[in-house]
Amino acid sequence: MMKHITIIGGGIAGLTAAYYLQKQIKEKHLPYQVTLLEASERLGGKIKTERRDGFTIERGPDSFLIRKQSAERLAREAGLGDQLVTNGTGKSYILVDGKLHSMPQGSFMGIPTQVKPFLFSDLFSLSGKLRAGFDFVLPKGEPKEDQSLGKFFRRRFGDELVENLIEPLLSGIYAGDIDDLSLMATFPNFYQLEQKHRSLVRGLQQTMPKPKTSPGKKRSMFYSLKDGLQSLVEAIEEMLDDNVVRKNTVVKQIEKAGEQYTLTLSDHRTIRSDAVMVATPFNTMKKMLGNYDFVSSLEDMKATSVANVALAFDQSAIKEDIDGTGFVVSRNSDYRITACTWTHKKWPETAAPEGMALLRCYVGRPGDESVVDLSDEALEKIVLSDLNKIMKIEGTPRFSVVSRWENAMPQYGIGHKAKVDKLEKDIAENLPGLFVAGSSYRGIGIPDCIDQGEAAVEQILAYLEN
Ligand code: FAD
Repeated sequence: MMKHITIIGGGIAGLTAAYYLQKQIKEKHLPYQVTLLEASERLGGKIKTERRDGFTIERGPDSFLIRKQSAERLAREAGLGDQLVTNGTGKSYILVDGKLHSMPQGSFMGIPTQVKPFLFSDLFSLSGKLRAGFDFVLPKGEPKEDQSLGKFFRRRFGDELVENLIEPLLSGIYAGDIDDLSLMATFPNFYQLEQKHRSLVRGLQQTMPKPKTSPGKKRSMFYSLKDGLQSLVEAIEEMLDDNVVRKNTVVKQIEKAGEQYTLTLSDHRTIRSDAVMVATPFNTMKKMLGNYDFVSSLEDMKATSVANVALAFDQSAIKEDIDGTGFVVSRNSDYRITACTWTHKKWPETAAPEGMALLRCYVGRPGDESVVDLSDEALEKIVLSDLNKIMKIEGTPRFSVVSRWENAMPQYGIGHKAKVDKLEKDIAENLPGLFVAGSSYRGIGIPDCIDQGEAAVEQILAYLEN
């Protein structure tokens, strides 16, 4: 008998699952049918590229880590191997106390792996440097289930290294307060390094793969795609059979009905399914499963809001430029932008046509999230005024693209991993055949979401085989 698998949510996690399920069903001639239900009129979720006047503008993510291999693998599967582009490795900066400082060479997520560049960096005071050096002598911390990222790094390196380097870099990824974020859900490897090597610097020095490039030359860490990350979404959509994807389809409720599940849509129609993968944000999943106490009693998951503003200029409008690909802003600076990328230098082959510049700035840090609700004009003004404090841009941009991401950045609070483990265990006991995946659970990066999509495929197939 044909069995039906339903995936809810057409972001990268759901799309990955749809693609690999279809592939396995075809290869192994399995009697299963897959449907992907997406609430909006488009697939991709947070991956969204705007192509305009020869510019490639990422409204959401702009790249994925090369080191985590599942995204590259998926791109190659989708026939996009020749479209992969690596980032330009120009200088990057941290804006501290209103001044741009070069990122010290050899820093990994802000943690020194070479001593000299930190000793000579103008990012820290002498006492800040001495305090950071405590990392070499401090004992390892007591074994703990979890703790905040901020607390962990402050204990090892002191406040100054955290505020001037680690915090701005990590906030750039998580759009959250590092004193509230979980160490074990974000960087468990740092905890393990400390437990094993005591000193994080020594631990990193011993465990980081040695660069293949010549010393001093920076390696590209990220991939993007020539026509933007949305081409991955488009290529996967193209490979899915016609009857798989149903857009403009909002799932409101999921209920177990005997061996199957009944999914109720916003137009009250229902769908029966033998296995279900929920690849929406946690809070939406919680509403769909609101009839189950073990889900409805869970706390909502915090998610922060950010916006980015992409500004297109003729290069001649930039009178005083900076030699680099971008900067992040420390929270002790009097700026409202939190990060800026010189996109045309980070992605020189793809972002902007010859002679043009594309700058993309983020706003919206914890405590200043309301900035996201300002009008496009107001945001553009804030960004230009901040940028003109450190470079000189004349005139107005050719055009700007504002992207708002409300409650879009899931915050992994302390104890997050244990909560996810428990949720999955409870679901397995109470709702066998239902699986959750995506950025609310086991990693927010694109490769993390792809990993979760792949893992869900294995779980679904194992469940249906039994
Ligand atoms: P989503 O993309 O959120 O997809 C969920 C889908 O579910 C959506 O399409 C939604 O419409 C649908 N849905 C919701 N409710 C329902 C319902 N009731 N019924 C049916 N469908 C529903 N990651 C990186 O690796 N690199 C980066 O550079 C990077 N930058 C980022 C910048 C921004 C501004 C943001 C917001 C994120 C960034 N990320 C980055 C993170 C990464 O983009 C996301 O974590 C990832 O794309 C999330 O994928 P997902 O499939 O889990 O969820």
